[in-house]
Amino acid sequence: MPICFESYYSFSEIYNFSKSSYSGKDFIETIRLSRLNSSLFSSEGSILCEFYFSLIYKYHCSVTFKISGKVQLLCQRCLEPFFHYINENAQYILLESDQASLVESDGKDILIVSEEGLNIAVLIEDELILSLPIIASHKKNIECGSLADKISKY
Ligand SMILES: [Zn+2]
Repeated sequence: MPICFESYYSFSEIYNFSKSSYSGKDFIETIRLSRLNSSLFSSEGSILCEFYFSLIYKYHCSVTFKISGKVQLLCQRCLEPFFHYINENAQYILLESDQASLVESDGKDILIVSEEGLNIAVLIEDELILSLPIIASHKKNIECGSLADKISKY
């Protein structure tokens, strides 16, 4: 049974994924991530998400992500759109609420799985939002305004 990014999974399902080292990968369209989408110039671009579940420290559930792709942002210097490339890795220890104080995480991020369950799309969206620059702009000044340059030549 493939994992659906937009489904909610209970902690016992997550435990089974972790025990069986479940992994998968899929493309996710930014247009389906409404919180992220509101920060983007357009819904162009695509995101590939690879993930695997595992048991760490003997019995704790964990999910590891590799998120890559590109999204279109608006440069705050020249007001032209540009592609921002994403290459993020993240690992979370997944806990039920009553386990929270029991774990030594070695600095790994801990995520408490609510009664509602875990939704992978929400997690991916959080990672993507955190990966966006605070001020979007072309990497180099020289890249700014190239579209305006081209247009003015015609
Ligand atoms: Zn620019």
